[in-house]
Amino acid sequence: MRHRALLASLAGLVVLLVAGCGGGSTPAPTAPSSPPPSAALPPEPAPSPTRTVPPKPRLRPLPVKLPAGLIRTTGTDKVALTFDDGPDPAWTPKVLDRLKAAKVTATFCVVGKQVRKHPGLLRRIVREGHQLCNHSWNHDLDLARRPVSEIRADLVRTNREIRRAVPDAKVPFYRQPGGRWTAEVVKVAKQLDMRSLHWSVDPQDWAKPTAATIEKRVKRSARPGAVVLLHDGGGNRSATLAACTKLIAGLKRDHGVARLT
Ligand SMILES: [Zn+2]
Repeated sequence: MRHRALLASLAGLVVLLVAGCGGGSTPAPTAPSSPPPSAALPPEPAPSPTRTVPPKPRLRPLPVKLPAGLIRTTGTDKVALTFDDGPDPAWTPKVLDRLKAAKVTATFCVVGKQVRKHPGLLRRIVREGHQLCNHSWNHDLDLARRPVSEIRADLVRTNREIRRAVPDAKVPFYRQPGGRWTAEVVKVAKQLDMRSLHWSVDPQDWAKPTAATIEKRVKRSARPGAVVLLHDGGGNRSATLAACTKLIAGLKRDHGVARLT
Protein backbone atom coordinates (compact mmCIF):
# COMPACT_ATOMS: atom_id res chain seq x y z
CA MET A 1 0.00 0.00 0.00
CA ARG A 2 2.81 2.38 0.88
CA HIS A 3 4.46 1.58 -2.46
CA ARG A 4 1.24 2.39 -4.41
CA ALA A 5 0.80 5.62 -2.51
CA LEU A 6 4.35 6.64 -3.37
CA LEU A 7 3.72 5.86 -7.06
CA ALA A 8 0.54 7.94 -6.98
CA SER A 9 2.37 10.89 -5.43
CA LEU A 10 5.07 10.69 -8.08
CA ALA A 11 2.42 10.53 -10.83
CA GLY A 12 0.70 13.58 -9.31
CA LEU A 13 3.99 15.45 -9.26
CA VAL A 14 4.56 14.66 -12.98
CA VAL A 15 1.07 15.95 -13.78
CA LEU A 16 1.75 19.17 -11.89
CA LEU A 17 5.08 19.67 -13.65
CA VAL A 18 3.50 19.10 -17.08
CA ALA A 19 0.63 21.46 -16.25
CA GLY A 20 3.09 24.12 -15.11
CA CYS A 21 4.73 24.15 -18.56
CA GLY A 22 1.71 25.69 -20.22
CA GLY A 23 1.17 28.38 -17.64
CA GLY A 24 4.10 30.70 -18.19
CA SER A 25 3.67 33.08 -15.27
CA THR A 26 1.58 30.68 -13.18
CA PRO A 27 3.16 30.31 -9.74
CA ALA A 28 4.66 26.86 -9.10
CA PRO A 29 2.08 24.72 -7.35
CA THR A 30 2.97 22.87 -4.19
CA ALA A 31 2.80 19.06 -4.08
CA PRO A 32 -0.21 17.63 -2.27
CA SER A 33 0.58 16.59 1.26
CA SER A 34 -1.56 13.43 1.14
CA PRO A 35 -2.18 10.95 -1.68
CA PRO A 36 -5.44 11.36 -3.63
CA PRO A 37 -8.27 9.08 -2.47
CA SER A 38 -8.34 7.07 -5.71
CA ALA A 39 -4.66 6.23 -5.57
CA ALA A 40 -5.10 3.07 -7.66
CA LEU A 41 -6.59 4.97 -10.66
CA PRO A 42 -4.37 6.36 -13.39
CA PRO A 43 -3.66 10.08 -13.05
CA GLU A 44 -5.90 12.63 -14.76
CA PRO A 45 -4.53 13.82 -18.10
CA ALA A 46 -2.61 17.07 -17.86
CA PRO A 47 -4.80 20.09 -18.57
CA SER A 48 -4.19 21.50 -22.01
CA PRO A 49 -2.34 24.83 -22.18
CA THR A 50 -5.43 26.57 -23.63
CA ARG A 51 -7.08 26.25 -20.21
CA THR A 52 -4.79 28.97 -18.94
CA VAL A 53 -6.46 31.52 -21.28
CA PRO A 54 -9.22 33.31 -19.36
CA PRO A 55 -12.70 32.42 -20.65
CA LYS A 56 -14.47 34.98 -22.88
CA PRO A 57 -16.91 37.07 -20.90
CA ARG A 58 -20.46 35.89 -21.32
CA LEU A 59 -22.68 37.85 -23.69
CA ARG A 60 -25.28 39.88 -21.87
CA PRO A 61 -28.83 38.85 -22.75
CA LEU A 62 -30.79 40.79 -25.33
CA PRO A 63 -33.57 42.83 -23.74
CA VAL A 64 -37.08 41.60 -24.52
CA LYS A 65 -38.07 45.09 -25.63
CA LEU A 66 -36.02 47.48 -27.74
CA PRO A 67 -34.17 49.90 -25.43
CA ALA A 68 -35.14 53.55 -25.10
CA GLY A 69 -33.51 56.22 -27.22
CA LEU A 70 -33.85 54.72 -30.70
CA ILE A 71 -34.79 56.83 -33.71
CA ARG A 72 -37.57 55.01 -35.50
CA THR A 73 -39.28 57.81 -37.40
CA THR A 74 -38.15 61.00 -39.11
CA GLY A 75 -40.12 63.36 -36.87
CA THR A 76 -41.88 64.86 -39.91
CA ASP A 77 -44.39 63.49 -42.41
CA LYS A 78 -41.67 62.78 -44.92
CA VAL A 79 -39.98 59.40 -45.02
CA ALA A 80 -36.26 58.57 -44.99
CA LEU A 81 -34.32 55.92 -46.88
CA THR A 82 -31.48 54.02 -45.26
CA PHE A 83 -29.09 51.58 -46.98
CA ASP A 84 -27.09 49.10 -44.92
CA ASP A 85 -23.99 46.90 -45.07
CA GLY A 86 -22.01 48.68 -47.81
CA PRO A 87 -20.13 50.21 -49.35
CA ASP A 88 -20.16 47.47 -51.96
CA PRO A 89 -18.39 47.86 -55.32
CA ALA A 90 -21.13 46.04 -57.24
CA TRP A 91 -24.23 47.66 -55.78
CA THR A 92 -23.48 50.94 -54.02
CA PRO A 93 -22.63 52.85 -57.24
CA LYS A 94 -25.89 51.71 -58.82
CA VAL A 95 -27.93 52.64 -55.75
CA LEU A 96 -26.23 56.05 -55.80
CA ASP A 97 -27.18 56.43 -59.48
CA ARG A 98 -30.85 55.68 -58.66
CA LEU A 99 -30.88 58.17 -55.79
CA LYS A 100 -29.29 60.84 -57.96
CA ALA A 101 -31.82 60.24 -60.74
CA ALA A 102 -34.68 60.54 -58.22
CA LYS A 103 -33.09 63.66 -56.66
CA VAL A 104 -33.27 62.27 -53.12
CA THR A 105 -30.66 61.65 -50.46
CA ALA A 106 -30.40 58.71 -48.08
CA THR A 107 -28.44 57.54 -45.05
CA PHE A 108 -25.79 54.88 -45.63
CA CYS A 109 -25.09 52.61 -42.66
CA VAL A 110 -21.57 51.50 -43.50
CA VAL A 111 -19.45 48.62 -42.22
CA GLY A 112 -15.90 49.60 -41.21
CA LYS A 113 -14.20 46.71 -43.01
CA GLN A 114 -16.01 47.61 -46.23
CA VAL A 115 -14.99 51.24 -45.85
CA ARG A 116 -11.37 50.14 -45.54
CA LYS A 117 -11.68 48.21 -48.84
CA HIS A 118 -13.63 50.89 -50.73
CA PRO A 119 -12.77 54.36 -49.43
CA GLY A 120 -13.52 55.87 -52.86
CA LEU A 121 -17.13 54.72 -52.61
CA LEU A 122 -17.45 56.33 -49.20
CA ARG A 123 -16.14 59.58 -50.69
CA ARG A 124 -18.76 59.39 -53.42
CA ILE A 125 -21.55 58.80 -50.87
CA VAL A 126 -20.53 61.93 -48.99
CA ARG A 127 -19.86 63.98 -52.12
CA GLU A 128 -23.39 63.30 -53.35
CA GLY A 129 -24.93 64.66 -50.17
CA HIS A 130 -25.88 61.48 -48.31
CA GLN A 131 -25.50 60.96 -44.59
CA LEU A 132 -23.33 58.42 -42.83
CA CYS A 133 -24.20 55.97 -40.12
CA ASN A 134 -21.71 53.72 -38.31
CA HIS A 135 -22.83 50.08 -38.72
CA SER A 136 -19.94 48.49 -36.75
CA TRP A 137 -16.58 47.22 -37.90
CA ASN A 138 -17.54 43.76 -39.09
CA HIS A 139 -21.33 43.55 -38.79
CA ASP A 140 -21.10 41.73 -35.48
CA LEU A 141 -24.68 40.77 -34.63
CA ASP A 142 -23.69 40.28 -30.98
CA LEU A 143 -21.72 43.48 -30.59
CA ALA A 144 -24.32 45.13 -28.35
CA ARG A 145 -24.10 42.17 -25.96
CA ARG A 146 -20.33 42.37 -25.49
CA PRO A 147 -18.39 44.24 -22.79
CA VAL A 148 -18.76 48.00 -23.08
CA SER A 149 -15.02 48.40 -23.76
CA GLU A 150 -15.33 46.12 -26.81
CA ILE A 151 -18.38 47.99 -28.09
CA ARG A 152 -16.57 51.31 -27.77
CA ALA A 153 -13.41 50.00 -29.47
CA ASP A 154 -15.47 48.68 -32.41
CA LEU A 155 -17.40 51.91 -32.93
CA VAL A 156 -14.27 54.06 -32.58
CA ARG A 157 -12.37 51.89 -35.04
CA THR A 158 -15.20 52.17 -37.58
CA ASN A 159 -15.41 55.96 -37.26
CA ARG A 160 -11.64 56.20 -37.59
CA GLU A 161 -11.80 54.25 -40.86
CA ILE A 162 -14.62 56.47 -42.13
CA ARG A 163 -12.53 59.55 -41.36
CA ARG A 164 -9.48 58.04 -42.98
CA ALA A 165 -11.53 58.04 -46.19
CA VAL A 166 -13.27 61.40 -45.56
CA PRO A 167 -11.32 63.34 -42.92
CA ASP A 168 -14.08 65.71 -41.84
CA ALA A 169 -16.96 63.25 -42.24
CA LYS A 170 -19.91 63.65 -39.92
CA VAL A 171 -21.20 60.36 -38.51
CA PRO A 172 -24.36 61.38 -36.68
CA PHE A 173 -25.86 57.88 -36.40
CA TYR A 174 -25.08 54.36 -35.26
CA ARG A 175 -27.13 51.34 -36.29
CA GLN A 176 -26.69 48.04 -34.48
CA PRO A 177 -26.34 45.07 -36.88
CA GLY A 178 -29.49 43.00 -36.96
CA GLY A 179 -31.27 45.62 -34.86
CA ARG A 180 -30.09 43.63 -31.85
CA TRP A 181 -29.85 46.64 -29.57
CA THR A 182 -29.00 46.86 -25.90
CA ALA A 183 -29.14 49.90 -23.62
CA GLU A 184 -25.35 49.66 -23.37
CA VAL A 185 -24.71 50.10 -27.11
CA VAL A 186 -27.13 53.04 -27.23
CA LYS A 187 -25.20 54.66 -24.39
CA VAL A 188 -21.78 54.11 -25.97
CA ALA A 189 -23.02 55.49 -29.31
CA LYS A 190 -24.33 58.56 -27.48
CA GLN A 191 -21.00 59.06 -25.73
CA LEU A 192 -19.41 59.06 -29.20
CA ASP A 193 -21.96 61.67 -30.42
CA MET A 194 -23.99 59.23 -32.45
CA ARG A 195 -27.74 58.76 -32.21
CA SER A 196 -29.06 55.24 -32.45
CA LEU A 197 -30.94 54.76 -35.70
CA HIS A 198 -33.50 51.98 -35.95
CA TRP A 199 -36.26 51.80 -38.59
CA SER A 200 -39.99 51.44 -38.96
CA VAL A 201 -40.25 49.69 -42.35
CA ASP A 202 -38.29 46.53 -43.08
CA PRO A 203 -39.17 44.82 -46.39
CA GLN A 204 -36.57 42.15 -45.58
CA ASP A 205 -34.76 42.69 -48.85
CA TRP A 206 -31.75 40.85 -47.35
CA ALA A 207 -33.75 37.61 -47.67
CA LYS A 208 -33.91 38.22 -51.44
CA PRO A 209 -37.61 38.45 -52.21
CA THR A 210 -38.46 39.70 -55.71
CA ALA A 211 -38.24 43.38 -56.56
CA ALA A 212 -42.05 43.53 -56.80
CA THR A 213 -42.37 42.09 -53.28
CA ILE A 214 -39.88 44.58 -51.86
CA GLU A 215 -41.74 47.45 -53.47
CA LYS A 216 -45.15 46.16 -52.32
CA ARG A 217 -43.97 45.66 -48.72
CA VAL A 218 -42.56 49.17 -48.50
CA LYS A 219 -45.65 50.73 -50.03
CA ARG A 220 -47.95 48.78 -47.70
CA SER A 221 -46.15 49.61 -44.45
CA ALA A 222 -44.81 53.11 -45.07
CA ARG A 223 -46.58 55.65 -42.85
CA PRO A 224 -45.80 59.36 -42.58
CA GLY A 225 -42.36 59.70 -40.99
CA ALA A 226 -41.24 56.17 -41.84
CA VAL A 227 -37.59 55.16 -41.77
CA VAL A 228 -37.16 52.52 -44.48
CA LEU A 229 -34.47 49.86 -44.18
CA LEU A 230 -32.86 48.63 -47.41
CA HIS A 231 -29.48 47.09 -48.27
CA ASP A 232 -26.77 48.10 -50.73
CA GLY A 233 -24.28 45.54 -49.38
CA GLY A 234 -24.00 42.11 -47.77
CA GLY A 235 -24.91 40.05 -50.83
CA ASN A 236 -26.57 40.17 -54.23
CA ARG A 237 -28.75 43.27 -54.12
CA SER A 238 -30.16 43.05 -57.64
CA ALA A 239 -33.76 42.84 -56.39
CA THR A 240 -33.32 45.88 -54.13
CA LEU A 241 -31.80 47.78 -57.02
CA ALA A 242 -34.58 46.73 -59.37
CA ALA A 243 -37.15 47.86 -56.79
CA CYS A 244 -35.49 51.22 -56.21
CA THR A 245 -36.85 53.31 -59.07
CA LYS A 246 -40.56 52.55 -58.51
CA LEU A 247 -40.21 52.33 -54.74
CA ILE A 248 -38.59 55.77 -54.46
CA ALA A 249 -41.05 57.33 -56.91
CA GLY A 250 -43.94 55.92 -54.86
CA LEU A 251 -42.56 57.22 -51.56
CA LYS A 252 -41.91 60.64 -53.08
CA ARG A 253 -45.46 60.83 -54.38
CA ASP A 254 -47.16 59.51 -51.22
CA HIS A 255 -45.06 61.13 -48.47
CA GLY A 256 -42.02 62.95 -49.77
CA VAL A 257 -38.48 61.69 -49.10
CA ALA A 258 -36.26 63.74 -46.82
CA ARG A 259 -32.91 63.63 -45.15
CA LEU A 260 -32.87 62.45 -41.54
CA THR A 261 -32.27 65.27 -39.10
ZN1 LIG B 1 -26.71 45.31 -41.40
